[in-house]
Amino acid sequence: MTAQIIDGKAFAATVREKVAGHVARLKEEHGITPGLAVVLVGEDPASQVYVRSKGKQTVETGMNSYEHKLDASTPEDELLALIDKLNNDPAVHGILVQLPLPGHLNEDLVINSIDPAKDVDGFHISNVGLLGTGQKSMVPCTPLGCLMMLREYHGSLSGMDAVVIGRSNIVGKPMAQLLLGDSCTVTIAHSRTKDLPEVVRRADIVVAAVGRPEMVPGEWIKEGATVIDVGINRIERDGKNVLVGDVDFPSCAERAGAITPVPGGVGPMTIACLLANTVTACCRANGLSEPEGLTA
Ligand code: NDP
Repeated sequence: MTAQIIDGKAFAATVREKVAGHVARLKEEHGITPGLAVVLVGEDPASQVYVRSKGKQTVETGMNSYEHKLDASTPEDELLALIDKLNNDPAVHGILVQLPLPGHLNEDLVINSIDPAKDVDGFHISNVGLLGTGQKSMVPCTPLGCLMMLREYHGSLSGMDAVVIGRSNIVGKPMAQLLLGDSCTVTIAHSRTKDLPEVVRRADIVVAAVGRPEMVPGEWIKEGATVIDVGINRIERDGKNVLVGDVDFPSCAERAGAITPVPGGVGPMTIACLLANTVTACCRANGLSEPEGLTA
């Protein structure tokens, strides 16, 4: 079998189009412009690239983008004061604090100081609890993007065996909750899992979120399974810097029914879902019906 490529880049463009459509309607019919505030502390180069890209796409979809760049040595109380100001600003519907934060800042404290209704990253403990109990929440962007692609490809996921490799709070755990919410039978694997190849071989859906370049070989993949590769790993190959995922793409593509590439798979969907979450947050804040197909 040669897998169908799930084109995250193209799908992300359709999500952005939907977002832009909703934004235009919000402006026309209600005079509301959704606003996303992004807070960057320090000068981490990768974070700067992400923040730039988020700001650009926010504006391209017709929303207001508010960027707050703070010095790496910013004291915690100053950052918390900024978040409090954004929490109380009616023009701001979504707040994202770019992670990781410099070591002197308590990430949990900072994230949990964001108003849960504006927590477009879905990391606030209230949103984690709401997602875990199947209630309406803000859903973390990367797993939401994976879910959207799986729904688009399969329609219903009900009854499918899904394995999520990785149990991080930002990807693995919320991904598992979302798959459970769509009635998959879910296994979460991690570094202590016994016989990972055998666990993966059972799966109709494999989501790899490990952070280890090309760790999953094709021989672990059940014939016809769907493989979602969350990993973003920069490696050197033939003297060049290349980006690879957590699965070995060529061998997995030979056995899978469908697979996301790296780059061009999960990555573009993450920012598209951030925009989608901002529109959702704006609608909820204004008591308006939520856009269809942009939430879990
Ligand atoms: P973390 O490092 O937080 O978590 C990695 C998980 O993988 C852990 O649960 C760990 O298990 C597990 N793991 C590590 N080694 C193994 C192994 N040998 N076998 C099985 N499981 C293993 O990573 P993240 O969840 O933050 O990110 C995962 C990947 O996804 C990274 O490559 C990251 O860059 C990428 N990513 C991509 C995004 C996108 O937009 N496309 C967004 C976010 C992340 P244990 O808990 O036991 O240590």
